[in-house]
Amino acid sequence: MVDLQTQYQHIKQEIDAGIQEVIDSAAFIKGKKVTEFQEHLEQYTGAKHVIPVGNGTDALQIALMGLGLKAGDEVITPTFTFIATAEVVALLGLTPVVVDVDWDTMNMDINAVRRAITPRTKAIVPVHLFGQCADMEPLMQLAQEHHLYVVEDACQAIGSRYTFADGHTRQAGTIGDIGCTSFFPSKNLGCYGDGGAIFTNNDDLAARMRAIANHGMVVRYHHDMIGVNSRLDSIQAAVLDAKLPHLDDYIAARQRAAAYYDKAFAGNSKLLIPGRQTRSTHVFHQYTLRVTGADRDRLREGLAERGIPAMIYYPVPLHQQKAYLDPRYNDGDFPVAERLAGCVLSLPMHTELDEEQLAYITSAVLELV
Ligand SMILES: *Cc1c(COP(=O)(O)O)cnc(C)c1O
Repeated sequence: MVDLQTQYQHIKQEIDAGIQEVIDSAAFIKGKKVTEFQEHLEQYTGAKHVIPVGNGTDALQIALMGLGLKAGDEVITPTFTFIATAEVVALLGLTPVVVDVDWDTMNMDINAVRRAITPRTKAIVPVHLFGQCADMEPLMQLAQEHHLYVVEDACQAIGSRYTFADGHTRQAGTIGDIGCTSFFPSKNLGCYGDGGAIFTNNDDLAARMRAIANHGMVVRYHHDMIGVNSRLDSIQAAVLDAKLPHLDDYIAARQRAAAYYDKAFAGNSKLLIPGRQTRSTHVFHQYTLRVTGADRDRLREGLAERGIPAMIYYPVPLHQQKAYLDPRYNDGDFPVAERLAGCVLSLPMHTELDEEQLAYITSAVLELV
């Protein structure tokens, strides 16, 4: 699905030098590299504050802790996403309220969000699934009308841009009150282990979340709130700081591969190419087909026999996950998500795909459907 070895070979010197610098300095925790990367990421994203943390799941958890939500508060998330989005809501004793998604963009359905708002709703967590932004302008308007916080799960969408009706653009993760991203190795900006970051333009929230990520500590050994221990280590920051200047090229490479896939599959009656959110660019963390006129699982097996990996993101929506079963929800309540779970198939997508590989993959798919 990804080719991190080849990507590394192209930037080996920059990566190795950065890692060596950290080892020579022995500043493995909270070293200079972490601050440097933080500042570079603030410049890149336009976020006023970037708070580096241990991973994307921690970023989401610290974001919700930073908002000071209380047990029983409702948080709206899409049911078609990676589990981390709802996991942190449940872990904090908040109540996840799930909504259906849009068939074309596979992102949160804003009308479904509107219907799910109750007097107990406190926050909305849109997920910019597979690399394009949810429809943020109407979502932010809805949130403002109802005085709700918005925490963007931008773990798959770093670098994606959303254009507002007045023409101004903002990057994924910098539109809501808080944005969260992940540097898991296969993410669009991936490190060589675990890493994540929180974005906000709000000074008070930034100070709170910075403290929460550090045991709730502002003055050393004085703990003002209950916190966690979540930090990006210096070696991972060095890797990320070496890769960040290449992120736009990496996005362009992914978009070229996606355009190749689109062209090959656009006319096929058994497959649907990923629908585009017209207001957002797509950075293609995943290229996800909907297999509507053929057996998705057979197609996946056929590809595997030809040495082509393909993955199902995600086979089970949240409301049907064993750990999250809830008497409020029944099978059939979220028909789009359930249909997607049965037909999505993500093809290899990374920065190193060449024409020969793309031709091999697309012709195999077309022969098999
Ligand atoms: C990867 C991912 C996360 C979690 O990130 P980790 O760094 O693995 O904790 C959360 N939400 C979404 C949508 C993701 O894709």
